[in-house]
Amino acid sequence: MNNTNSSRRDFILNAGKATVAAGLSFSVLPALANELTKGSGPEQFFVQQPLPYAYNDLEPFVDALTMEIHYSKHAAAYLKNLNEAATAEIKSAGKITLEEILKNISKYSSKMRNNVGGHYNHEFFWQCMLPSNTSKPSSNLSEAIVKNFGSYENFKTQFSDAGKTRFGSGWAWLIVTPDKQLKICSTPNQDNPLMDIAEVKGTPILALDVWEHAYYLKYQNKRPDYINNWLGIINWNSVSQQFDKAMI
Ligand code: MN
Repeated sequence: MNNTNSSRRDFILNAGKATVAAGLSFSVLPALANELTKGSGPEQFFVQQPLPYAYNDLEPFVDALTMEIHYSKHAAAYLKNLNEAATAEIKSAGKITLEEILKNISKYSSKMRNNVGGHYNHEFFWQCMLPSNTSKPSSNLSEAIVKNFGSYENFKTQFSDAGKTRFGSGWAWLIVTPDKQLKICSTPNQDNPLMDIAEVKGTPILALDVWEHAYYLKYQNKRPDYINNWLGIINWNSVSQQFDKAMI
């Protein structure tokens, strides 16, 4: 690792500590605390959290240029369009969270659907990856994986297949269903399992972006190679924490 990387990571760690020190809600997935407050002075818009690693930290599995364009162009554009949609469509005063919008997405425009999904999904996705990865599922999560899928190997196969067989652009998900079971599913475009229009509903604990913008520069048409490599950088610490939260 070079000094630039170290400095960036130190900066991010320190920024995280500063946020906690300021008493703001800053849980495992900062995106889950993302909320908009209307009607009490200058509006606080939804924001992108800093990436928890440098653009080149996921090399060679995900290349630096892909990460940079993905985070600073694609994801940033979803955020900009989300804030436009929120300004136009959210009229009532008070706080509203991303989850509240997602749960009622059928009441909003397609612009809101595409961009609140695009923002939420990417903020979630960044947390699902870990550089120099040695993380493993917690014992609770391991037990649930074996119970629901038979084995860890079966889980990997089914999750990969969900990503490989999603036609066009979309996402593969590992979710906790309302009856507290693990389930694998996929969604088109920027939809997600929190949306009231989702075919399979539940709380996401792992997300894989299979849009071409997530892998095309390095993998071109070889989506299966991207997915196979991506399985090696799953941040199981984060997934395990999300699992525990979803099981409460
Ligand atoms: Mn993406």
